Amino acid sequence: MTKSLLVAHPIGFCGGVRRAMEIFSQIESTHSGAPIYVLHELVHNRSVTDGMRHRGAIFVEAVSQVPEGSTLLLGAHGSTPEIFRQCQERHLDCHDATCPLVSKLQNLAASFDTTIPIIFLGDGNHPEVRGILERLSRHTVFLVKDETEVQALPHLGRGVFFSQTTRSHTEVQRISELLQSKVDSLDDQAHVCDAVFQRQKALETLAKQCDSIYILGSSNSSNARRLVEIAQEAGAPFVRLVEGPAEIPPTEFARATTIGLGAATSTPDSLIEETIQFFEAQGFPRQSNEK
Ligand code: SF4
Repeated sequence: MTKSLLVAHPIGFCGGVRRAMEIFSQIESTHSGAPIYVLHELVHNRSVTDGMRHRGAIFVEAVSQVPEGSTLLLGAHGSTPEIFRQCQERHLDCHDATCPLVSKLQNLAASFDTTIPIIFLGDGNHPEVRGILERLSRHTVFLVKDETEVQALPHLGRGVFFSQTTRSHTEVQRISELLQSKVDSLDDQAHVCDAVFQRQKALETLAKQCDSIYILGSSNSSNARRLVEIAQEAGAPFVRLVEGPAEIPPTEFARATTIGLGAATSTPDSLIEETIQFFEAQGFPRQSNEK
């Protein structure tokens, strides 16, 4: 039986994550050993965070933990206005790695009419959502995390539909359709990032061709979890989210014929390459499926 490995295309780092890593490298090259503080994680990936820590980054959970006058890097998912205020108060050399798309959506959210309720599909614990919610403090916001919560919404005369950039494109579409019956006049402003959308489409295709799918990413990565859901919804018989090849026992895929590999937008190329080599060494040569 011929065995093969299909690798999703596109895969791995998106433009926003690449840009954030470049900003970190630029600061590193000009700071000659002075500590670089990073608020939370720069991007949601354990190997990236470990690599930055190894290079001297110090991760903190609050601006108050950063010594006055130090250098602080803010993550790709965006920050709240309150965080920028605290940075000024502490006279920090603050570098903002917010992805330009997230900045654009923050500005869009801030421009919404305050008299129209917002239905916001997102995870309230995610920094991107927290950053946008703070800009909607004068609005009535219904934060929903799934279709069940959308079903429970009251009937509204008017409403704006908005979403976190890393939600599943099929879920956003379903909820948009559902809202048509819950809101008389709906302004659909939901955005799934194009880099996320392309990776989701690639996974849908792989899921139909493979008997086992592995997604490289961390469990706190929203877009990694969405890739798992998408592969499952597309009918893949076996789907697992893993940090890297060390978490994959060869017995797990011993009966597989075609393995599919996807990765979150925060998974580095080096880890993807390492995983491809792992599967090749186990008798699953990579088969080209790039379009
Ligand atoms: S997933 Fe999209 S919105 Fe998020 S950092 Fe990447 S490019 Fe920006």
